[in-house]
Amino acid sequence: NGTGTAHTAPGSATDVTGLTGAFTALYGTAPEGVWAAPGRVNLIGEHTDYNDGFVLPLALPHTARAAVARRADGALRLHSADVPGGVVEVAAGELAPGARDLGWAAYPAGVVWALREAGHEAGGIDLHLRSAVPTGAGLSSSAALETVTALAVNDLYGLGLPPGELARLAQRAENDFVGVPCGIMDQTASACCAEGHALHLDTRDLTRRQVPFDLAAEGLRLLVVDTRVSHDLADGAYAERRASCEEAARRLGVPALRDVTPEELAQAPGRLAGPGEETLFRRARHVVTENRRVEEVVALLAAGDTHAVGPLLTAGHASLRDDFEVSCAELDLAVGTACAAGALGARMTGGGFGGSAIVLVTEAAAVTVAEAVSAAFAAAGHRAPRIFPAVPSAGARRLA
Ligand code: ADP
Ligand code: MG
Repeated sequence: NGTGTAHTAPGSATDVTGLTGAFTALYGTAPEGVWAAPGRVNLIGEHTDYNDGFVLPLALPHTARAAVARRADGALRLHSADVPGGVVEVAAGELAPGARDLGWAAYPAGVVWALREAGHEAGGIDLHLRSAVPTGAGLSSSAALETVTALAVNDLYGLGLPPGELARLAQRAENDFVGVPCGIMDQTASACCAEGHALHLDTRDLTRRQVPFDLAAEGLRLLVVDTRVSHDLADGAYAERRASCEEAARRLGVPALRDVTPEELAQAPGRLAGPGEETLFRRARHVVTENRRVEEVVALLAAGDTHAVGPLLTAGHASLRDDFEVSCAELDLAVGTACAAGALGARMTGGGFGGSAIVLVTEAAAVTVAEAVSAAFAAAGHRAPRIFPAVPSAGARRLA
């Protein structure tokens, strides 16, 4: 079920031994290695990654881990300890988008497909997976699964691809093989984040910068509030927001909303004239102000003023709620309650319509704020949220 609560510490020696043992029991031979790739939260920069904009994610300590070995016959045999149904088998050479319903196995199979499509000699594998990234919680369990597969295949087949390129091909797998039109943020975060840092990514030219984000040194905590509301319903809305952003950019005469500043947009409402003008203006206003907020947060972190990031998070939430309209009652309750209970700031993170919120809070106030959020959910009759600290952790790596 992906929560990892019943398992030994993910990534520990015991965990690696467990994965290796399970692999051997399943496939009859030992794996050639064990790899890990994390889920992520995005500190700021939401719905900007398909507008050529900026994002600032950090990797979670929660990882997907995979024990993997090559196969000489070109078959892919894929197994997840977290879903019922046994091993999924498909021939690498016969992979084609939509050819067969592979279920969850479309993610790792899609990665092998994308590598081969790009001309890399990725062959057969046996894979056994276990993940501690909650699924469907807006924490990118899908990108963790893709990235751990990409890194394992890259290492085993000696492809020599850098992490940014593995992320790009993992995104291609999700877009064109699984059929989810996500941007490049999640896979890049999983592949490229560094411990103690947030990753400043320009999604236009894919340049990356590691921004020191040492919460403990400043007596701060970043809490994740998983509302446990599934974001499944977001698919149609996501496509609609993407289309709105493209239409707004077209009417403004720019390649992407990245090319417009908040000041320019405020002076140019007439240029959006046409059907849906008012809605398009608000959608565009979210994206252009959100890009500005990313720059402001990066500047504050560089200046060592992490406390001051709080209000920018809360402003970002208001923009997602009111202008982009991708929040929901549970996310609004988490953010509103956390701020009222003394958090420095809070916002929804991920695509929206459920999933998770993040809360920036002093260590002294962390317990009070978490308890206030839980109490508010109980009083409103919502499912109990899952609340845990987001410790900025390492990106994808080989464990054994
Ligand atoms: P998110 O990435 O926000 O967690 P997605 O809907 O993008 O949500 O991805 C969730 C899907 O990824 C699951 O439905 C499943 O198909 C796949 N997945 C994630 N983790 C695992 C896992 N541990 N085992 C099998 N499939 C997984
Ligand atoms: Mg996902």
